[in-house]
Order: sequence, then C-alpha cells, then structure tokens
Amino acid sequence: MNGTLTSDKLSAYWMPFTANREFKKSPRIITSASGCYFKDDKGRDIYDSLSGLWTCGLGHNNKYINKAITKQLNTLDYAPSFQFSHSYAFDLAERIASLMPHRLDKVFFTNDGSESVDTALKMARAYWRKKGMASKTKYIGRIKGYHGVNFGGVSVGGIVGNRSLYGQGIDSDHLSHTLLKGNEFQKGLPLEGAYLAEELNDLIALHDASNIAAVIIEPVAGSAGVLPPPVGYLEKVREICTKNNILLIFDEVICAFGRMGSYSAAEKFDVTPDIMTTAKQLTNGIIPMGAVISQSEIYDTFMENSGDEGVIEFPHGYTYSASPVACAAAMATLDEIERQGIMERVNNLSPLFEESVHSLKGLPFVNDIRNYGLAAGITLEHKDNTPMKRPYDIAMSMWEKGFYVRFGGDTVQLGVPFITTPKEVDLLVNALGESIENS
Ligand code: PMP
Repeated sequence: MNGTLTSDKLSAYWMPFTANREFKKSPRIITSASGCYFKDDKGRDIYDSLSGLWTCGLGHNNKYINKAITKQLNTLDYAPSFQFSHSYAFDLAERIASLMPHRLDKVFFTNDGSESVDTALKMARAYWRKKGMASKTKYIGRIKGYHGVNFGGVSVGGIVGNRSLYGQGIDSDHLSHTLLKGNEFQKGLPLEGAYLAEELNDLIALHDASNIAAVIIEPVAGSAGVLPPPVGYLEKVREICTKNNILLIFDEVICAFGRMGSYSAAEKFDVTPDIMTTAKQLTNGIIPMGAVISQSEIYDTFMENSGDEGVIEFPHGYTYSASPVACAAAMATLDEIERQGIMERVNNLSPLFEESVHSLKGLPFVNDIRNYGLAAGITLEHKDNTPMKRPYDIAMSMWEKGFYVRFGGDTVQLGVPFITTPKEVDLLVNALGESIENS
C-alpha cells in the first residue's frame, strides 16, 4: 500500500456518503498530510478547510500525538473493555470530566459520534426505567439536526436525505430548525428566534412529558450548514426540559474540544445539558474515539437502582470502548490543546474568520452566511433546480485551486484548523469568492 491508486482498484470500495459512480470517474485521492495541508496524488498541496471532517483542529501529523500513540502501541496495544480495564481509561475520564461544566463528570467511552449519540439515547431511556418511569421512551430532535448514522441518531436527526431510505426508526418527533427569514447574514448568534424553543411546549402537550425521555440538539448545528442558536434559545430549551422532567442531550460531536473557542458549547453558552455527546476533536481525528459525558445524578441513578453489586448497571458498551491507543491519542490531544493555548488562539482568530467569511456577502448566488467560533456555512442559490449542484461545483473548483471544502445540501461549510494563520484564511476566502462567482 503506497498511497497511489490504479484504475483496476476502483471496484470493491463502497464509499460512505459519496456519489460513488461520479467519484470513481475522477477520484480525488489524498496521499499524505501535514499541518493544515493534504498532499494529493498529483503532488499538490491542498489546504484543509474543514480540518478533515471537523476532526483535526490541531492540524495533521502532530509529532507529539504521534509519539504518544506509538509509545502506547509498544506498551499496551489492546485490553478488554468489559469487566477488566487499564489506568489510561480512568485517567482520561478524569481529565475530560475536569474540562466540562460543573456536574458533567461521568464519562462513557465510544468509538465515534454515531455511537456516542445512540449511547446517549439508550442511557436516557434506561435512566427513566431505573427511576420507575418506563413510559418515557420518546425523543425530540430537530429538523436539520444531524446525529450520526445509527438507527437512533437517524431517527432523531432531521436531514431528509439521510432518513428517507430507511423508513420509521425509533419513536421521535422534531422541533423546527432555527433558520429564520430575516436572520440572513447575521454574524455569530442570530438575535431573533428564541421563541422557537416554545415549540417544545407544543410537543410536550401533544405527546405528554410522561412519554418523553429526552430532547437532543446540536448547540451549533454543523452538518446542516452551521446554524448557531438564536440568543436565548438554548436557555429556553433547558428551562422547558427541566420543568417537565425531560433530559436534555447536547450533541457536541463537532462543538466540543475547541471549535467554539471552549472545551464545550455548554461552557460557551452557559447552558448545561444532562448528557453531552462528543467525538472527532477528542483525538484530533487520528484514532476513532467518542465520549458520552453525563451528570453524576444519572450515573448515580444507575448505581443505586440496579440491585446487587455484581449486576451490570448499564448493559451497553463496545469492544473498543476506551482502547488504550485511543486514550493515548486523546490524552496527547488534550495536552497539545493546553500547551498551544488553543482556546485563546481560536477566540483570537474567530473575529477575523468571521469578517473574512462575511466579506462574501454580495457575491452572486450567496443567499446567507452564518458563523460561530471557527465554523461557517455559506448557503447558495440552487442551480439546475438542485440544491447540491452549486456547492458541488464550487467544491470541485476549489479542489482544482488547491483547497478542500465540504459541501452538503445547499451550503459550503468551513471549519479551518485551530492552528491556521490569518493569511491562510484570506487565501481560502479569496479563492472561494472566485469559485462562487464562476459557479
Ligand atoms: N453528531 C454530530 C453533531 C455530528 O456532526 C456527527 C458527524 N458529523 C455525528 C454525530 C456522527 O459522528 P460520526 O461520523 O463520528 O459517527
């Protein structure tokens, strides 16, 4: 395996979330990566404007993280995760808990964002059963929400294309999304829209709180094109959940560990969920790992209501939960976040990123621009009556220019690495402006 692809090798690989037939006609192949850049199979440097898939904020090929992983591989490569363990898992859980808002201090390890979401959903139902409220099984998600691809996550998710092939999943209903007419081109948090949280009262009236286990939302929705919450919205959702005895889950798979300029969006917005899901940036994207962080009251409920000490309180977990190598990657990532003063860097760079991205306002086809932290979404006019066509064309033109940008629905998404420079942001946005104009 030398990183190059020959045409006789195109058949077997069924690519995820990819237009396979189109891709295989002209593959876009990455061969190596360092810092903020990939190299492609033609030897070109490609700027990574989404930090992988919102994963590699510290850049690629970080020597300190690589060394920690190699050391771990040579010490303890794998240990069973059920009924036996290793100190790295305990150390990492303590470290993560110490970085989260008060009371979010129990950590359950998974391997990715989708597993974190389904773990959180199961945890919520089981929690109510342990409390003797077995009827609380329904979930409330949000239109345009993305919560991964497993059955639970797809059911609470609200992106039509990801749902429509699979039929009815688990019992869920959905709040409206927060993209409001009149809020276009607002920088940071939209001022209008907190009232949309009141819809939760309508859904509670419809289904009754005695049947609802949890509400799940992304504080800043990512995959639908970066939707920051309207001012006051999260607070209102929190208030309604608390009042009605419904758990609140924040899906922070994109938000946590730096993207918002904080260890969590919960911290940034000062709204604490009962359960938080994380993944991606936890290991800088290098080794798959996720973590579900719950309030101690939830953990305590499992411990106190499961009978004998020998009983498994939460019959759930993965072969690779807290694999030692993933723990080493996460620990080293958190070291690097601290050592490089990443939160300060992100907070310092965010205003410049915001100005730069919003300079695209006024270009043809640009219908809206949204941003928070180092995340931005640019919504584009449909082309050939297809929402995805123009973002796709723009992404292809950017690839030709030496930039990887992500497209989804009618938006182009940016999530530049935390370590990027103002100059690189400038080059990216200039190139993007040209590609938009020519689309
Ligand atoms: N939740 C959110 C908010 C996400 O953004 C994602 C991935 N983009 C997921 C869940 C799923 O994560 P994964 O692809 O690691 O399963």
